[in-house]
Amino acid sequence: MIASILPTYSRAPLTFVSGEGSWLVEADGRRFLDLGAGIAVNALGHAHPALVEALSGQANALWHVSNLYNIPAQQQLADALVEKTFADTVFFTNSGTEACELAVKMARKYWFDKGAQDRTQIITFSGSFHGRSSAGIAAAGSEKMIKGFGPLLPGFTHLEFGDHDALQAAVSDKIAAIMVEPVQGEGGIRPLPDACLKGLRDLCDEHGILMILDEVQCGMGRTGKLFAHEWAGITPDIMMVAKGIGGGFPLGAVLATENAASGMTAGTHGSTYGGNPLACAVGAKVMEIVGDDAFLAEVNRKAGLLRQKLEGVVAAYPEVFEAVRGSGLMLGLKCKATNTDVVGAGFAEGVLTVPAADNVVRLLPALNITDEDIGLAAEKLDAVASRVKEANA
Ligand SMILES: *Cc1c(COP(=O)(O)O)cnc(C)c1O
Repeated sequence: MIASILPTYSRAPLTFVSGEGSWLVEADGRRFLDLGAGIAVNALGHAHPALVEALSGQANALWHVSNLYNIPAQQQLADALVEKTFADTVFFTNSGTEACELAVKMARKYWFDKGAQDRTQIITFSGSFHGRSSAGIAAAGSEKMIKGFGPLLPGFTHLEFGDHDALQAAVSDKIAAIMVEPVQGEGGIRPLPDACLKGLRDLCDEHGILMILDEVQCGMGRTGKLFAHEWAGITPDIMMVAKGIGGGFPLGAVLATENAASGMTAGTHGSTYGGNPLACAVGAKVMEIVGDDAFLAEVNRKAGLLRQKLEGVVAAYPEVFEAVRGSGLMLGLKCKATNTDVVGAGFAEGVLTVPAADNVVRLLPALNITDEDIGLAAEKLDAVASRVKEANA
């Protein structure tokens, strides 16, 4: 008999009932150090007092009004995003995949309005992840996600990650946009080198192609800049954001330049819940905290500390780990052992990590993880590695 919850997930036998900072408490009382943060969602950890206050304050005032009316928290968050980024305008969604939908629609509408009705093709890359909607799975094009779900939304050109020749060859006047993650998350914490991101920007400029960055996972301070593309000194035309922006409340966004958004006039897009007062009240507070330069400087310092400790663990257990990679507090442990065994051993040691493709274990801790918890993370991962080494001996 089918489970009452559609069985699309294989869940660990863990039930968390409360959380505080980087810690989660299991129903049986065990405490777990959370280095996954809900897959980069709980950007400020669990039960951050300022977020609890923002949410409960809004909850006491007003939960929902339609986008038929002004929503002050939404305005505040949009203004803050516009002030701190390349963007001139923002549309709010409830998730990353909805941000993908709009990014695709926006790029196509842009060219339609320019009279280039057949300029609809979007270039994407192997190992990418853009969500689970029909556009999202067609964009990523991975066999695992698309098999059985056809016919797929047409109009995506899939290229190998890092194949420059294929990219040059694929460019034509049918290409509306290039969509890419500055750091692939699900794909195994694979950063696109800054030089490549710059090269992509140049290519887009040369051919008038729109650049869509998917910063759903690598954005909102995760790499030590507010958005990951800032490291490369470039800006996109359109950017997808979600995960960390709501600090755990469902919220996503599409940010765009005035030019790229020019086709999106009244009535061309909408969302019942997108930009809901509760979500935006929390999002505005997250933005206020994470958008602060002093906070981001701390993310970089903590990232350096964690990385240094991880390098030590990797060096001590060459049978288990091959390398540390990633950027800021978006780190991956490339495994020699099986990544899911490492994640599983973490359950026994009271530490939560997240598997990714390419046999990688992801570490996506809260951006405000304490130095003490970084020390404990290294100790626990050492114990995890020892456990896996022993099991494989
Ligand atoms: C998680 C993720 C998405 C999809 O976001 P949802 O909120 O799960 O729909 C899209 N792109 C990237 C890079 C992601 O990590």
